[in-house]
Amino acid sequence: MKRCIPAVSFSYLEKAIHRYTELGKKLDMDFLHLRSLVRLFDSNTTKEQWEDKFLNAGMHVYIKEFVAENSFPLLNDQYSSAIIDPAGFLDVISFLDTSRDYFSKNHFLLDERFDFSLFNEVEISYRDFIADNIIFCEGYRLKENPFFNYLPLTPTKGEVMTIRIPSMENFDKIISRGVYILPLGNYLYTVGSTYNRVDFTYKLTEEGQTFLKDKIDEILAVEYEVVGSVAGVRPTVKDRKPLIGKHPKNDHIGVFNGLGARGVLMGPYFSSGFSKFLINPATKKDSLNFETIERFHPYK
Ligand SMILES: Cc1cc2nc3c(=O)[nH]c(=O)nc-3n(C[C@H](O)[C@H](O)[C@H](O)COP(=O)(O)OP(=O)(O)OC[C@H]3O[C@@H](n4cnc5c(N)ncnc54)[C@H](O)[C@@H]3O)c2cc1C
Repeated sequence: MKRCIPAVSFSYLEKAIHRYTELGKKLDMDFLHLRSLVRLFDSNTTKEQWEDKFLNAGMHVYIKEFVAENSFPLLNDQYSSAIIDPAGFLDVISFLDTSRDYFSKNHFLLDERFDFSLFNEVEISYRDFIADNIIFCEGYRLKENPFFNYLPLTPTKGEVMTIRIPSMENFDKIISRGVYILPLGNYLYTVGSTYNRVDFTYKLTEEGQTFLKDKIDEILAVEYEVVGSVAGVRPTVKDRKPLIGKHPKNDHIGVFNGLGARGVLMGPYFSSGFSKFLINPATKKDSLNFETIERFHPYK
């Protein structure tokens, strides 16, 4: 929520909180961190727009309270702020590591780069494995997939930075103003992120790093040091809808992709609908809670 407009449906958030909590219990690991979010205003105009949306546009569902200016001594909140709830973040590294361990221990994981020359599309077999269906979930590398490279994926690179704030051991909220600052504990915070639609390497850029530092300087009234940075590539799509569905010529080959800039948030919602459909295609109309890739198959 950047301009006081919910970017996506509340159902995505509800489903994500439910699913990551459920998986946390199953895998005995807390990777979902529910924290309210403090949105710092950058001007009195922004503050007034938010107050108007709170009163007239149903945004009271998300905005829990408005906080007076200069309430947070370590932040630049001279134009005041608002508290958003529910909000939270997923510790993606811990989530992926724990999931990988689970799949590995249960012999569900073949840890290698998928080699298309070893895949038989008639038998749906790969090496010694034979399956009813194969679903490709490859992020922006979908562009290299011979079955789905016709789909209009337009990747967006993003950089995130980890910083240490010596005077802030563990701020109890997510901070947002142009970028987000997530409290990791032990004086560490993750700051993100940038949007680059030209370069799809994992290399850090001077432009991206400078952007993040400038934003941090706007937010923090105290010193910080950069601990590290990483870059990733988001599988974004021109029409901002996911790329999910079956191949037009082979009903046993599917794709789950195009989650754009919000895969963590939207993944549980879309995967729930798609898996119901895969298990029982007869329930298609009721279970599919999104528009499939059939929107790109006008002559199917
Ligand atoms: C900087 C940044 C910030 C983000 N911020 C947010 C956020 O605020 N909120 C949010 O909800 N989401 C966020 N995301 C998540 C992101 O936007 C995506 O939506 C999400 O990562 C998509 O997940 P995915 O599994 O479809 O693809 P990916 O995460 O790209 O995963 C695809 C995986 O498939 C593997 N793969 C590809 N090809 C092959 C092959 N041939 N063989 C074997 N493996 C293969 C890749 O190595 C990769 O591990 C962020 C991502 C980035 C990079």
